[in-house]
Amino acid sequence: MRIAIANQKGGVGKTTTAVNLAVGLKLRGKKVLLIDMDAQANATSHLGFNPAEVETTIYDILSGSEMATKHAIINTQFGIDLMPSNLNLASAETEFLDEIGREKLLDTALEQIKGSYDYIIIDCPPSLGLLVINALSAADRVIIPVQGEYFAVEGLAKLLQIVSRVHKRVNPRLGVLGVLLTMVDQRRKLDTEMVKLVRERLSHYVFNAVIRRNVKLAEAAREGQPIFVYDSKSTGAEDYAALVDELLIQVGDV
Ligand code: ATP
Ligand code: MG
Repeated sequence: MRIAIANQKGGVGKTTTAVNLAVGLKLRGKKVLLIDMDAQANATSHLGFNPAEVETTIYDILSGSEMATKHAIINTQFGIDLMPSNLNLASAETEFLDEIGREKLLDTALEQIKGSYDYIIIDCPPSLGLLVINALSAADRVIIPVQGEYFAVEGLAKLLQIVSRVHKRVNPRLGVLGVLLTMVDQRRKLDTEMVKLVRERLSHYVFNAVIRRNVKLAEAAREGQPIFVYDSKSTGAEDYAALVDELLIQVGDV
């Protein structure tokens, strides 16, 4: 199953979720590939790699300069595989605009590794451009991280509209797996109300698992380690483990 982590709003916890979900699934015995679709390459560095030093990246696959998808996949020390990214990807949005089948570049490349993984997690950039369309065109499901504060639901309608268009025109397999509330500060009343509001307002599934604000998650990212390795006793590890378990039930993989 391929799961895209998307929200055009920046800094809502997409990469943190992509990395820790991927490693959490691995800890439940699943074979996992994480694809870094962002030129910022935060997922790549979160797994301990220096983006400037990775040789073959997602960019080479999308541009067709590397034809063998598996050549852009590296093993990580955390038991999952990674298709890394780096700054090369920054030009992709404009560069591939005239390409025939431009929405399907990723999907086509992933055909080559069909059956190799239980889960492929795709970390999207904060935009609604061609890279995100490629991620959605290749995905079976999308998880939408939303920051647990009032203004964060703005923009959700636009994203859901794109998801529905990709579903209709390019990828009939695509569906929303759920909205994930991140960086929730449970001491703040506003956040608690926000959680309630999102649950009431959205017709889409909202995960029961909520990711609380936890500084360990940011530290782990800086150290280039998943939260389960950096601090397995943290609330961050606890929350992401709960998300993994809920996801496995949601997709009927238990
Ligand atoms: P971008 O849109 O730039 O790709 P993003 O949506 O991928 O951002 P992250 O990079 O995951 O967001 O998170 C933004 C920042 O917040 C990072 O520094 C990250 O370490 C931190 N962070 C993420 N989740 C939490 C959390 N639950 N508690 C505390 N800090 C968090
Ligand atoms: Mg990110």
